Amino acid sequence: MRNLAIDAERLWASLMEMARIGATEKGGVNRQALTDLDRQGRDLFVAWAREAGCSVSVDAIGNIFARRPGRDDKLAPVMTGSHLDTQPTGGRFDGVYGVLAGLEVVRTLNDLGLATERPIEVAVWTNEEGCRFAPAMIGSGVFAGIFTLDRAHATADRDGKTMAGELARIGYLGETAAGGREIAAFFETHIEQGPILEAAGKTVGIVQGAQGQRWFDAVLTGQEAHAGPTPMAIRRDALLGAARVVDLVNRIGMDHQPNACATVGQLTVMPNSRNTIPGRVAFSVDLRHPDDEVLQAMKAGLERGATVICEKIGLALELKEIWYQPPIAFDSDCVAAVAKGAAAIGQNAMPIVSGAGHDACNISTVAPTGMIFVPCAGGISHNEVEAATPADCAAGCNVLLHAMLDRAQAV
Ligand SMILES: [Zn+2]
Repeated sequence: MRNLAIDAERLWASLMEMARIGATEKGGVNRQALTDLDRQGRDLFVAWAREAGCSVSVDAIGNIFARRPGRDDKLAPVMTGSHLDTQPTGGRFDGVYGVLAGLEVVRTLNDLGLATERPIEVAVWTNEEGCRFAPAMIGSGVFAGIFTLDRAHATADRDGKTMAGELARIGYLGETAAGGREIAAFFETHIEQGPILEAAGKTVGIVQGAQGQRWFDAVLTGQEAHAGPTPMAIRRDALLGAARVVDLVNRIGMDHQPNACATVGQLTVMPNSRNTIPGRVAFSVDLRHPDDEVLQAMKAGLERGATVICEKIGLALELKEIWYQPPIAFDSDCVAAVAKGAAAIGQNAMPIVSGAGHDACNISTVAPTGMIFVPCAGGISHNEVEAATPADCAAGCNVLLHAMLDRAQAV
């Protein structure tokens, strides 16, 4: 494979220019889905894509596709992309890096006068973050047929504003059908959002797939009683039970290292009064593992352990699984194309499994998919201090260029 290179300075300049839209005082970005700022970010991307000679289309859920024609333009495209929306206290790289790395690939191909057999497309997926409109990854989810368009359009934010209404308001309620077309291969570049690459001193992560996830809603019910007159021995303290389950969840995570994650992130105590024994506690449980069998064992451990804990204290236990995402294995040809790309440019790369959900996870259900990770400082994201270096951003983009050329057949 030829040793081609993207323009690292141009990529960095574009990242920094996009980061001005919604810039926060602490150096982060607040550009939530379908706000006026999201519109400005989208408009800037569309203007850049048109300048680079791409045709631009928008689908019914507001996903944007910038297309560089192929020599045989009837062939299914090789696509890349990510998202431009951010968390309220988001950073400058999560999502936007994957979009602008795709644009940089197009610009580089233009500079080199290089045609590809297949068309190249750069996608901007709508509402990846899920903070204004829940759940996350709605645009790619509709494209992949995981959510219906009607459900997505009706999804409302806290003020009751729907996605359909907000898409129309900002001018991105497109005409084209969402999904239902073939993609030859999809690649997404993204910051790792974890500490593994940095700790290993590697520049590029060859993403093998994504962890499976099981989410639960738990409710423990005991009996409210006065904190003074009620002897310890007869209490049915729901918060005590919850505390023991929180500890159990942590142990389940620790017992399935190195890859398990187990988290209680939300907890509501009722009645939440200083001198009343808590009668009811509701909380979330999030279990993750790349191996489905282990994930199943973690779930069984939670159910068994929580039952024993609640029996001992005399609590009623409701444990409802509200979401199950099986582990995802990315397409072996796409993973190989990423590995070859990293080798071709002499990058220090390692295999890695994604701990977070990404648009690529949705697209992997309808098209051969791969991902490229680059390190972020301290593994921190969803935070205004999120940081990646110009050199690492360029390295990931160079791998993307090579992987896309591999699948799109440069001529
Ligand atoms: Zn992201």
